[in-house]
Amino acid sequence: MKINYHQLSIRQLHELLKTKILTPDQLTKLVYKRLEQFKKLNAVVTSLEQNAIKQTKLITEQEINDNLLAAIPFVIKDNIATINFLTTGSSKILANFIPNYDSTVNMLLTNNKAINIAKTALDELGMGGDGLYAATGHVLNPWNLKHITGGSSSGSAALVAAGIVPFALGTDTGDSIRKPAAYCGIVGFKPTYGLISRNGVFPYAPSLDTVGIFTNHVEDIAIVLDSIALFDEQDFTSVQSKEKNYTKNLNQNIEGKNIAILNYNDYQWNDIVKSSFDEAIKHLTDGGAKVQQIEFNKELLQSLLPVYMIISFAEATSCHANLTGINFGVRKNGKNYQEIMTNSRTFGFGDMVKRRYIIGAYALSENHQEELFNKAKKVRRLIVEHLNTIFKKYDAFIIMSNINPAPKIKDVLEQKKVIKSEHDYLEDLLLLSNLNGGPSINIPLTTVNGLSIGFNINGAPFNDQVILNIASFLSKKINFNNKLLGDDHE
Ligand code: GLN
Repeated sequence: MKINYHQLSIRQLHELLKTKILTPDQLTKLVYKRLEQFKKLNAVVTSLEQNAIKQTKLITEQEINDNLLAAIPFVIKDNIATINFLTTGSSKILANFIPNYDSTVNMLLTNNKAINIAKTALDELGMGGDGLYAATGHVLNPWNLKHITGGSSSGSAALVAAGIVPFALGTDTGDSIRKPAAYCGIVGFKPTYGLISRNGVFPYAPSLDTVGIFTNHVEDIAIVLDSIALFDEQDFTSVQSKEKNYTKNLNQNIEGKNIAILNYNDYQWNDIVKSSFDEAIKHLTDGGAKVQQIEFNKELLQSLLPVYMIISFAEATSCHANLTGINFGVRKNGKNYQEIMTNSRTFGFGDMVKRRYIIGAYALSENHQEELFNKAKKVRRLIVEHLNTIFKKYDAFIIMSNINPAPKIKDVLEQKKVIKSEHDYLEDLLLLSNLNGGPSINIPLTTVNGLSIGFNINGAPFNDQVILNIASFLSKKINFNNKLLGDDHE
């Protein structure tokens, strides 16, 4: 019997494994076969094939029966440490870095007998939103290879979209899960800040960084979340949420929920997007939710990107000061330690990362800290307070993840050469949940010219379940068809 494993959810795969219609060995082999077919996506930094085959063989029948994740394949962003396996952050400066410690998330998944298939490419150290800044080159969008995946968790998104693995881990500091999820037509979830341990995850901007999950099905997010959303004393920002059992508590009852939707009335957009958006709102009201359009304070909206940039660049500059080439990573020669550091860092970082360090160092410097870094933190507070007033009244706040589909790689590269005078502030809204630490999920809504458009649902911190429930309800109604998971796309 031919099994199209790539069309299946975690639960469906689990049933096949349990009933022995599919053995763990067969599944792991199918995954590597499909990964080979999609090699052109350039999504992988390091394949873990030998280890994956070895680990698969060790899985017992009992473990399959007991655990939904046993033998389920996954991939993990290459800024998340995997003990004894190369973890590069897609940066030249860490091209030879093999951690002697494991990230908590990898450890938890491995303890659950899930099979880690590969380390995936990212925009260098998590910085970038296009999928064009990995040391291993551009990651291509599986829906159309000429287009970007979005970033920075580009490789993880591409491999889930292509049905190679049912789930992947990424990180989200400023939309890095939800943007690529929107561009690749999959579900992408950023949890409440602190809910998933960041122990062993390379920091980018610690006051914003989160680990999150990509899947093709909302229930799969809940399943993975249940296995990794645990308090971790190794991470001092780890929190114990009152919520647990996300899978068991997942339901589609949105009756009586108060949902705010951003008022896009003045916005000129594609007819397909507009009608899909209206249809999604109708589903919500038909399901018994009370939906209201709201405005977002314009001044705060315009400050989102600068605030994010100052805070994240400054934190990155400070965190990445340990990447000197001296204690670990790639070292270049020099006459003294300053010269070794300068040479290693000059060689090891890409241009975009270097630019960010310059801005970050400037924002932190004695003469500018007050007017830049401290001011950005104050405005962040105002943004969070504004969101608090919204979440006092509403259970969820819905926006578009993207209004336009993933642009062509060529156009993105050309545009980078010119400084745009017009910035569309509505493109920055995914940053909101990084600033307040709330849960946020992208679910696919529709396609335009064969590329996906996503819907984004946000909640107050620790209201992850309600966000998952609304996403589950909507995704059932929308019934998005990921053509890449079809039979014909072999
Ligand atoms: N586009 C954002 C940036 O370049 C997102 C990064 C992220 O979330 N890791 O900083």
